[in-house]
Amino acid sequence: MSKKENIVIIGAGLCGSLLALRLAQRGYKVSMYESRPDLRTTDISAGRSINLALSDRGFKALRLCGVEEKARDICIPMYGRLMHDREGNTFASSYSGREGEYINSISRGDLNGILLTEAEKHENVTIHFNTECTSVDIENTVAYFKDYNTKEEFSVDGDVIFGTDGAGSALRKSYYLERKFLFSYSQNFLTHGYKELEIPADTLGSHQISKEHLHIWPRGEYMLIALPNLDGSFTVTLFLSYDEGEYNFNNLTSEEKITEFFEKEFSDALELIPCIKDEFLNNPTGALGTVKCSPWHYQNKTLLLGDAAHAIVPFYGQGMNASFEDVTVFDTILDEHEGDWGATFKAYEKARKEDTDAIADLAIDNFYEMRDHVANPLFKQKRKLEMD
Ligand code: FAD
Repeated sequence: MSKKENIVIIGAGLCGSLLALRLAQRGYKVSMYESRPDLRTTDISAGRSINLALSDRGFKALRLCGVEEKARDICIPMYGRLMHDREGNTFASSYSGREGEYINSISRGDLNGILLTEAEKHENVTIHFNTECTSVDIENTVAYFKDYNTKEEFSVDGDVIFGTDGAGSALRKSYYLERKFLFSYSQNFLTHGYKELEIPADTLGSHQISKEHLHIWPRGEYMLIALPNLDGSFTVTLFLSYDEGEYNFNNLTSEEKITEFFEKEFSDALELIPCIKDEFLNNPTGALGTVKCSPWHYQNKTLLLGDAAHAIVPFYGQGMNASFEDVTVFDTILDEHEGDWGATFKAYEKARKEDTDAIADLAIDNFYEMRDHVANPLFKQKRKLEMD
């Protein structure tokens, strides 16, 4: 295998940009195509989670690629969860019971920006923004693109094509459409969606509630969570059914009803979100789904990684971490099989699939745990005793 091989990566999100960086470090020639504009120069946060929980799994991959410290510089450690009940009481709960353990709140855009910049420092990497992959001819390893700047359509021959283009992956769709091999695929949506809101910083630019916690307002059918940002704000995410229960996304369509809902269910949070009505009515509602599929690769030609291969619901805070771990595992497998992409892809999926299926199921379980269990009075009592 010549390191001059043309590697095409579709999608310059968290997984794609880390993969590009690692492959460039290994000497490969990488061309990466991203449908969105460059997030370092354009504000494109709307509609995607603004901040994320980054854990040790994620850090391990960042360390491998030499960017751990840069990421740590923009992290806020969260040492546990802080539950808020309807009356405004709070209950702290550590993640594991082990002292000093924490996860980190980090900005998706800033982290992605670091990875793009580090990848671009390698002269063997080129990144094309505003360029959407429309389909892939997996047999001939040709990817088809549309350039939003020039409106031109063009194709690129790759020796190998990686699909890191997220839950709606164009490469995965091509697997499905071409079906040149037995391809299994499932996509399951929760009846709940999510919407992001903001607790702004106070007038001094400080956080209005503890920045050392991941805040949770568990209410059975609904749930609110908040993660801190470096600028003193919190990104708040509401998880709510589309059409079930007294309050849902379909019936919360007037300012009065939105206020009524928050006053009744999240009154302490309402006081902290001054633009609630505008944000609720104007911010997009996102879907929450799990994607499982197999095989992830086609012969020695194409491979899916990250959410493209295994999108999961966000309740374990592990989707990005698992996507970064993909890069760690792939790198180890490449050490063993370098020179044979077919063997590399096969061994990689064998090593990885069981774990990504497991985290997908755990993430669904944690939806019910966070929503119901942490709101259970017995649980609260137990946690309180632990703290006393
Ligand atoms: P993506 O981040 O989706 O990146 C895919 C990239 O490909 C995007 O830049 C997209 O624009 C581009 N693209 C898509 N289609 C095309 C195309 N056809 N052509 C070219 N480019 C294309 N994970 C955690 O670890 N911790 C958390 O706390 C956490 N919280 C979350 C909260 C919410 C509300 C959600 C929805 C997810 C959360 N996740 C979290 C999961 C995490 O966001 C994903 O697992 C992660 O973004 C996956 O990275 P990726 O690079 O595989 O996919």
